[in-house]
Amino acid sequence: MTETKIRTRFAPSPTGYLHVGGLRTALYNYLFAKGNGGSFILRLEDTDQTRIVEGATDSLLNALEWAGIEPDESPRKPGKYGPYVQSERLSIYKKYVDQLINEKKAYYCFSTSEELEESRQLQLKQGLQPKYNRKWLPEDMGGSMLRSEVQKRLDAGEPCVVRMKVPEKRRLRLDDVIRNIVWFEAETIDDQVLLKSDGFPTYHLASVVDDHLMEISHVIRGEEWLSSTPKHLLLYEFFGWEPPVFAHLPLLLNPDRSKLSKRQGDVAVEDYQAKGYSKESLVNFVALLGWNEGEGVEQEKYSMDELIEKFKLERVGKSGAVFNIEKLNWLEKEYIKATDNRILLQKIKPLLETALAEKETEMDRSTISSDDYLLAMIELMKERVNFVSEFVSFGSYFFFDPASYEESAVQKRWKENTPDLLSEFLSVLNDTEFKVDPLEEALKAFAQEKEVKNAALIHPIRLAVSGVSFGPSLYHMLEVIGKETCLRRIEKAIKTITVPTA
Ligand code: GLU
Repeated sequence: MTETKIRTRFAPSPTGYLHVGGLRTALYNYLFAKGNGGSFILRLEDTDQTRIVEGATDSLLNALEWAGIEPDESPRKPGKYGPYVQSERLSIYKKYVDQLINEKKAYYCFSTSEELEESRQLQLKQGLQPKYNRKWLPEDMGGSMLRSEVQKRLDAGEPCVVRMKVPEKRRLRLDDVIRNIVWFEAETIDDQVLLKSDGFPTYHLASVVDDHLMEISHVIRGEEWLSSTPKHLLLYEFFGWEPPVFAHLPLLLNPDRSKLSKRQGDVAVEDYQAKGYSKESLVNFVALLGWNEGEGVEQEKYSMDELIEKFKLERVGKSGAVFNIEKLNWLEKEYIKATDNRILLQKIKPLLETALAEKETEMDRSTISSDDYLLAMIELMKERVNFVSEFVSFGSYFFFDPASYEESAVQKRWKENTPDLLSEFLSVLNDTEFKVDPLEEALKAFAQEKEVKNAALIHPIRLAVSGVSFGPSLYHMLEVIGKETCLRRIEKAIKTITVPTA
């Protein structure tokens, strides 16, 4: 027996941003293909022209590229592969629709939308599940419409659709990798439209034809497509094609187990991107939404390479996967802690550039943009930030003098004697080498001489230099920020901060 080559696809419709559920579908297809020496392709399903959103294709492609999910064949690489854009393949679908019509497996339907609606209402009133009433099913296909009537309308060029003829009594069996055996009763399935009056195929026809022509071995997609699958199985049967293996992924849920929705948080990959999440932690997080490595495996942090190695379709669960943002936040923090400072440096540089373009700084630009400075800052801050962007926002005092001072810290730490103490200490600092040990020694000796606690200096100095009451070790922070800036900021704070009245 020849072994089937693994080929998977992600087939988004360009109707908006990439949903995190879409990212998971793309990722699982990618991991499964890569882990089995196969290919992963990207196909844009744009046959519903009314739902296309301007810019959606670019935003989908950008989000996938950002996440590191590189298709082997994609519309991004025209000429080399693909392009797989359904609207550019209309003649292909038409050919297959004609085949089904000729073989009496599909038929033309001229029912107007008003007629369809009327029949729908009637069936609803009768307590029936609405289905097409088969008014246009021809006499030689088990219906009552005369072929001559069909021909007359066709010759007159009247708008029509093409519907598949679903067999009346049949049980259809789906062997799904994740959901095992699922049965469908053919009588519950409508005579699905395959070709619309605008000449575009519907999703059902286009996806079956393309999955076949593109030799897709495994269709891995969201559970919302499960109910469409019997129609697809019938189409494979009509064409005499071997269906691919199907795997329907569980729904993504909010923590209250309702379906993941925009109302309870962000659902677009670009929102997470904009909030500063790294692709590494988002991919790691999304991979765990429905998949685990095995019973009793404690590991939660996975790189893309590890995921490719370990991902198994059989280990995707059936039940809904809860989207727990705290876990994503934890992964992000863990990712930053574990990432090499030089890699963080590359991520921080563009963020800093943007910040410096937006705001004036009193500091020396070339110093604070230098690798040495940034690496020292990263080392101090990497245990403290939640996002890479926080190196620049939360750690803004490494780049900008504080514009204000944390109010509660002023209340608590800025005492009557603080301005005088700091003024005197400034001249000590001026003669001190700005390195951790001499700074610490100088501060302690000064506190002792003035008979005050170290804290009477430590807290106000931190507030003066950073504007806030928390952060890395004070002496390390002073060393990195440097003498000139620290002295300037302390002087400014003495002038600006008013001692709170008790
Ligand atoms: N175009 C469908 C979507 O937007 C693809 C469904 C499938 O994977 O078959 O999700």
